[in-house]
Amino acid sequence: MPVDTTQVFPMVVALVTLHATRYLLAAGSAWLFFWAWRANPMTTRRRLQHAAFTREDVRRELLTSLRTALVFGALFGVVYAGLPVVPLSHTGARAALEFSAWLGFLLLVHDTYFYWSHRLAHHPRVFPWLHALHHRSRNPSPFAALSFGVLDAVVQVAWAVPLVRWVPVPSVVWLVFSFLAIGINVIGHCGVEPYPLSWQQHPVLKWLNFATMHNQHHVAVRGNYGLYSSAWDRWMGTLLR
Ligand SMILES: [Zn+2]
Ligand SMILES: [Zn+2]
Repeated sequence: MPVDTTQVFPMVVALVTLHATRYLLAAGSAWLFFWAWRANPMTTRRRLQHAAFTREDVRRELLTSLRTALVFGALFGVVYAGLPVVPLSHTGARAALEFSAWLGFLLLVHDTYFYWSHRLAHHPRVFPWLHALHHRSRNPSPFAALSFGVLDAVVQVAWAVPLVRWVPVPSVVWLVFSFLAIGINVIGHCGVEPYPLSWQQHPVLKWLNFATMHNQHHVAVRGNYGLYSSAWDRWMGTLLR
């Protein structure tokens, strides 16, 4: 289906607003909960690094993340322009099943894409010009969630473009998925391990990607390349111990 140019501008404005607002809400809430609330017992017991965030780091993370929201909004504004809303095909219990299956599919595809593209972004020949900005945060704050260079930001979401255009994923699934994605991303950068520590030894839950793992990634600048799960890191031997 060709892009409808008359709808590009309003769609870009709507999606830039959505991405920026959603980022500010997610990162801002995590900041308030984990760091502005100084007596939060979870932060006291489970902060991942001793050093305080520097004002310069937080400022850069905030500004570059808002720029990423702009890139995401502009890109998907063009991709979505003129596309109809895709409804679920079923109603009732079947709709719940259909919704869950599509959501699981997106999480699986994105988790795989993220692992491999992220691992490639750490190749010494690629890292300096693609992904180095994200790693200027050795001690990332929740505001680092979308702190990417412009090209890195495009790579982050490139996987979704063909799916939006050519795979009939219901629109409500995309919406819920996108909220889930930023939520999990912010948790990975919140500087505290919010999940129960016992989960890290649990036979099933240990396959999640814990905040501890992504924080280790920022310290070591290698290993733990996963996003939602630690599956690819475990299978490919890149899990940091
Ligand atoms: Zn990285
Ligand atoms: Zn990160």
